[in-house]
Amino acid sequence: MDFEYTAEQEQFREELQEWLEENLPDGWTEGDRDVPDDQDEREQFLRDWQARLYEGNWAGLHWPSEYGGRDASLIEQTVYREETAKYHTPQQINAIGINFVGPTLMEVGTDEQKERYLSNILNGEEVWCQGYSEPGAGSDIASLTTRAERDGDEFRINGQKIWTSYAHYADWCFLVTRTDDSGLKHEGITTILVDMDQEGVSTSPIHQASDEEGFNQMYFDDAVAPVENVVGEVDEGWDVVMTLSSFEHGTTRIFSIEQRYKDILEYCKNNTRNGQPLVQDPVVRQELADLDSRIQAAKVSHLRNVSKQMETGMPGPEGSMDLVVADELANDLENFAVNILGPEAALWEDGPEDGQWVRDYLQTYGSWIAAGTGDIQRNIIGERVLGMPKDDKSQTSHREES
Ligand SMILES: Cc1cc2nc3c(=O)[nH]c(=O)nc-3n(C[C@H](O)[C@H](O)[C@H](O)COP(=O)(O)OP(=O)(O)OC[C@H]3O[C@@H](n4cnc5c(N)ncnc54)[C@H](O)[C@@H]3O)c2cc1C
Repeated sequence: MDFEYTAEQEQFREELQEWLEENLPDGWTEGDRDVPDDQDEREQFLRDWQARLYEGNWAGLHWPSEYGGRDASLIEQTVYREETAKYHTPQQINAIGINFVGPTLMEVGTDEQKERYLSNILNGEEVWCQGYSEPGAGSDIASLTTRAERDGDEFRINGQKIWTSYAHYADWCFLVTRTDDSGLKHEGITTILVDMDQEGVSTSPIHQASDEEGFNQMYFDDAVAPVENVVGEVDEGWDVVMTLSSFEHGTTRIFSIEQRYKDILEYCKNNTRNGQPLVQDPVVRQELADLDSRIQAAKVSHLRNVSKQMETGMPGPEGSMDLVVADELANDLENFAVNILGPEAALWEDGPEDGQWVRDYLQTYGSWIAAGTGDIQRNIIGERVLGMPKDDKSQTSHREES
């Protein structure tokens, strides 16, 4: 396996760098990365960034050109992740639409659904959320109870979802519902595209440890969706749930972790403890070396998974390895960083990087849970990568099956 980038791929990198230099908000590349705290201003800021990515043809890098994307190879996508991590680009408000919902509709949506939704996902005019988890159904999505009942040409939806990222911004929800409970729990499930802008849908923010409002509870009280919004077949939505989840597991944060490592390394070079630069402290050096070698190993492992995906065309269960390794690394790195920064790490706006270190530190705990917990990812690795015997079927969670 050759991990060198070709001249074309390096040219792609340069094109992206130039675009980022020109298009990131004023002051961003110099380190002034101010994202508004006010929710409305923040939403506008993130929507503007999404629109700018679209104008530059960077929004749907991995989407086929027939749907307005760039047809980028997996290696180009890797270069994109590396560079956007280096520039600490703002988060993509429509990440769920672009990375999960769009690709799922391309696989299993009707022609009408593709025509109706895909371009507005790409240009960011319609932001999406993913309504899977419920208070009694997280790892085990098949235990869901949110009901959708047929009423003429519509479905009437009642129930509750929880931990729904971006729901407070979202225009649409990719919702998993129960339409029949007479069979096995993986049967009688239907996935429906639900308009968030209607009386029967309400959201209530959940404050995270960082005090940010990243995710929400969602309530459906006689909400409606026309039958043509069903994705796949009624009562047979389990495969659709799995399709979306496979895209979810195929992402990696390793490049942003590497960038954060470089940031703390820089801090250690430029700051002193007991009169000498932190990088000269033997304990600090040892921890830096340990983190760096683990990050490099994780990158090679990720690139190996990318190579395999280039052969098979779909993300495989190896994505779970990337998730577990990245989550552990991020947690260790952030712990190291807050130790190094000392009391300063606890400062919000007046601290280093406007409190970004403490936000990142707190975020690592949520990342371990989102998209399937570390335990669930380990089960996937055990069963589907290492070929170990399957767990008792009745105990198997949706995240293990995906
Ligand atoms: C930051 C963040 C963003 C999120 N965004 C979304 C979103 O946009 N949409 C959405 O639908 N959901 C979202 N979630 C919810 C997330 O998918 C669930 O929290 C997650 O799947 C775990 O479900 P749970 O919280 O119900 O925990 P549970 O499933 O109840 O798990 C509790 C504990 O039991 C362990 N466990 C459960 N089953 C097994 C098993 N079979 N084997 C071994 N251990 C097991 C788990 O690892 C965990 O430690 C988000 C969560 C977070 C933290």
